[in-house]
Amino acid sequence: MRLVRYQVGEAPPRWGWVHEGRVGPVDGDPFGDFLRRDTEWPLEKVRLLAPLQPGKIICVGRNYVEHAREHAAEVPTVPLIFLKPPSAVIGPGEEILLPPQSQRVEHEGELVVVIGKRGRRILADEAEKHILGYTVGNDVTARDLQRSDGQWTRGKGFDTFAPLGPWIDTGFSPADALITVRVNGEMRQMGSTRDMVFSVPTLIAFISSVMTLEPGDLIFTGTPAGVGPLHDGDRVSVEIEGLGTLENPVRAEI
Ligand code: MN
Repeated sequence: MRLVRYQVGEAPPRWGWVHEGRVGPVDGDPFGDFLRRDTEWPLEKVRLLAPLQPGKIICVGRNYVEHAREHAAEVPTVPLIFLKPPSAVIGPGEEILLPPQSQRVEHEGELVVVIGKRGRRILADEAEKHILGYTVGNDVTARDLQRSDGQWTRGKGFDTFAPLGPWIDTGFSPADALITVRVNGEMRQMGSTRDMVFSVPTLIAFISSVMTLEPGDLIFTGTPAGVGPLHDGDRVSVEIEGLGTLENPVRAEI
């Protein structure tokens, strides 16, 4: 099942689901009890929003060997985690703004886990029960500021630096899906989730040994090799095989 947040005209945003290219409303709350109604709109007639307003956004650094190598960085022996603020979230088609403080903003296409059930010290074997589904994310990064600050809050935390969408897929399997990032149609990143250093269940066990995971929290699971710059006027797309494609325009903020 593919869950969305959507808007028709000026109507308030609401939960929905997508089936055969059409969107229908969902009554209730996908994190609790809910009911799917008949589909009523073709996808192109609705505005898809970010598929949720998340709680915590936990990100994993250097979770693909080839990406660690391209930065001449060590592959971590335990997962390297950091946070992005929920205020950075934007939806499909919304503009990524290049802040004037940075000369080098880069794309990082990533598989994103959506937590559905609260848990602390979750065992890897039990991790599945805490996942609502998966979505596509772009861990947009001001690389120059990430380097010069020595810690990552500013470089990762600007408004618009967490594009998400187009939906939460509750049936997706993360075992071996290709992540492809294109800028203006040109391929920049390509890698399989099979090549993650730490798997999704391992990440959930590790992170929940530090902080309680709550419904609506997200885990950005790291990016494959090939990160590169974004410029004013670009269009960046992140496609995950079997899951969906997230596309955003890029604009310089003055
Ligand atoms: Mn990342």
